[in-house]
Amino acid sequence: MSKTILVIGAGITGVSSAEWLRRDGWDVTLIDRIVSGHPDQTSFGNAGLIARGAIIPVSIPGLAASAPAMLLNPDSPLYLRWSYLPRLLPWLIPFLRNGTVEKVTEIAAGLAALTVDAVDQHQALSTGTPAEAFIQTGEYVNLFASKADYDADPLSAALRKKHGFDPDKIGRAEILSRDPNIGPAYNIGTVYKDYGWLTNPGGYVAALFGHFRSQGGHFQRGEVVDIKAGESPSVSLKGGEVLIADKIVLSAGAWSGLLNKNLAPKVKLEAERGYHVSMFNPNFTAPNPYMINDSRFVLTPMDGFLRAAGVVEFGGLDAPPATAPVNFLRKQMKKVYPNLKFEYDEVWMGRRPTTPDSMPVLDETDNIIHAYGGQHIGLTIGPRLGRMVADIAGERHANADIGAYRADRF
Ligand SMILES: Cc1cc2nc3c(=O)[nH]c(=O)nc-3n(C[C@H](O)[C@H](O)[C@H](O)COP(=O)(O)OP(=O)(O)OC[C@H]3O[C@@H](n4cnc5c(N)ncnc54)[C@H](O)[C@@H]3O)c2cc1C
Repeated sequence: MSKTILVIGAGITGVSSAEWLRRDGWDVTLIDRIVSGHPDQTSFGNAGLIARGAIIPVSIPGLAASAPAMLLNPDSPLYLRWSYLPRLLPWLIPFLRNGTVEKVTEIAAGLAALTVDAVDQHQALSTGTPAEAFIQTGEYVNLFASKADYDADPLSAALRKKHGFDPDKIGRAEILSRDPNIGPAYNIGTVYKDYGWLTNPGGYVAALFGHFRSQGGHFQRGEVVDIKAGESPSVSLKGGEVLIADKIVLSAGAWSGLLNKNLAPKVKLEAERGYHVSMFNPNFTAPNPYMINDSRFVLTPMDGFLRAAGVVEFGGLDAPPATAPVNFLRKQMKKVYPNLKFEYDEVWMGRRPTTPDSMPVLDETDNIIHAYGGQHIGLTIGPRLGRMVADIAGERHANADIGAYRADRF
């Protein structure tokens, strides 16, 4: 008889884990209070970028000094709900302390190990399933307003280069020859090759979920209220039902910290809230995804819409969405594409699961496999984490491979 495993959370991390475990012969039950592709998942509304080169954490040298001014500047992509600050501090202090050259160098290496083959990992997971139709491959362009903007972060550029992400630099004329709609604010670009993106992230994760179920994977709708580790680990659902299995995977995104509260070791996880504005039926589209460097958002051409997604807002899991980040994205879009018109837009807020060192948690303790903390690149690394979860469950993983992501590092 197959061994049983419960996977909590049907976002990209949980669905990828469930599908790789199913392919490995496990009897898998995915548990979620909603179905994959629902807007309450972070996996629904992200920028869709398979961000192979996004190996630099948000906390870099100088952030602690510049953050107060950024928080007061309405044209900055950093937001804080001040009433949340006391609860944020136990996470924020180590987060800011990790912004040293040594630590960022170490983190970049830990993240590069997960992102380097991300496009291949998405293809390996989705080829032969309805999800493969959502993957686009091509170039990815960063746009800079000025030489000062381009030169502002030499450490990140050097680290990317060290890990093989060394883009071609282009000027205004070439930016316009590739995309005549780019506004006059942007004068320098960097072009990364061999990138990928999704034409609809919610559709993609829903298609993977549909495939998993069509191949015999089980789904139980319910809200997990407690997890017990040990010989016969179990999950308690709201309403009283208790499910027991040989192993449990905790992959509940930004909510994983809540569910981990009765488990050892204790992890530190925060919701780094972000927003999108999706502009439907635009009068033109983008030839490739862009990172708009001065306002730190990603603009991605999707199926029937353009999506601007970014912003970091600290305010916890439950606060309602704010309007200022959405207004910020709309205003910045006018700078990128002054002549853009569209029929209507839709806005969204999601919660990136982020640890103080921006590295995911990937570890097994007492028959609980921890898999969360994908922060800004959780979509990118989801299939890779899923494969590593299956390797851990099947006892195929060398400890050294996951040392940087251990659950007891906090
Ligand atoms: C604005 C924005 C843009 C982004 N852009 C990108 C990008 O371009 N590229 C990239 O790689 N990443 C991007 N990200 C990050 C990425 O979206 C996330 O890291 C990733 O989606 C996290 O996936 P997940 O499966 O871990 O969590 P989620 O997708 O949030 O899924 C967690 C699931 O767990 C379930 N759950 C939680 N608690 C319980 C419970 N108690 N009981 C039952 N179910 C529960 C939830 O219902 C949910 O379905 C972006 C994020 C944001 C906010």
